[in-house]
Amino acid sequence: MTAGLVTIVGIFGLMIGSFLNVVIWRVPRGESIVSPPSACPRCGHEIRPRDNLPVIGWLILRGRCRDCGNPISPRYPLVELATGVLFAVTALLTGLSWLLPAMLYLVAIGIALTLIDIDTKRLPNAIVLPSYVVGAVLLALASANPGGESDWGAFVRALIGAAAMFTVYFVLLLIYPAGMGFGDVKLAGALGLYLGWFGWGALVVGWFAAYLLGGIFSIGLLLVRRADRKSGIPFGPWMLLGAGVGILFGQQLADWYAGIL
Ligand SMILES: [Zn+2]
Repeated sequence: MTAGLVTIVGIFGLMIGSFLNVVIWRVPRGESIVSPPSACPRCGHEIRPRDNLPVIGWLILRGRCRDCGNPISPRYPLVELATGVLFAVTALLTGLSWLLPAMLYLVAIGIALTLIDIDTKRLPNAIVLPSYVVGAVLLALASANPGGESDWGAFVRALIGAAAMFTVYFVLLLIYPAGMGFGDVKLAGALGLYLGWFGWGALVVGWFAAYLLGGIFSIGLLLVRRADRKSGIPFGPWMLLGAGVGILFGQQLADWYAGIL
């Protein structure tokens, strides 16, 4: 049962990863994600359906365009593979439940926003703003939990979490505008929705882990002199990674901390 679910969701993830490659390339350029069909950026030839299979297509082509022979970046199959693996792991951890759609959606936008932020240092409104609505609807479904016990307290916490994270980041932006952008503030609200749903511990740990992980990475970069203090490091990926830490370990860490006190 679990093995079947993990396999099916993993294969679904490979296909979503293929779609995320389109999103990552086109959304920052303001292009449509539905048309035209994918084409080679070098010669403009449309990608044939059989070559468009996630990961396998790239392997069959040995990483080269069938028409012009120019190399196709290994990033495409890697994004597909990463999405497939993360979807499978999410299915394994969440199980077959009403929470699964909400978590898969978070993983998908997390991958897209991480790569777009690294590429362009932006978190596009076209992805972040709809995530408030889609995230709230999917988390409401998880709270309603049809056929089981509902938990509307979690949903109220999610709304408070969204407002709290948005406010905290907005205040930090006002205090220290060089540290991040308004895109980070908007993403913070969307992540607060999820973290709040999981609990207060998740919310606090998710918020703090972003600064801790981002800070360690920045100090590491300074130490190996790959960056000076002015080279802006996108903060979105750390916020997303921090949210993952908060969701996975937030409650345990909060309980452990409460135990010490
Ligand atoms: Zn080509």
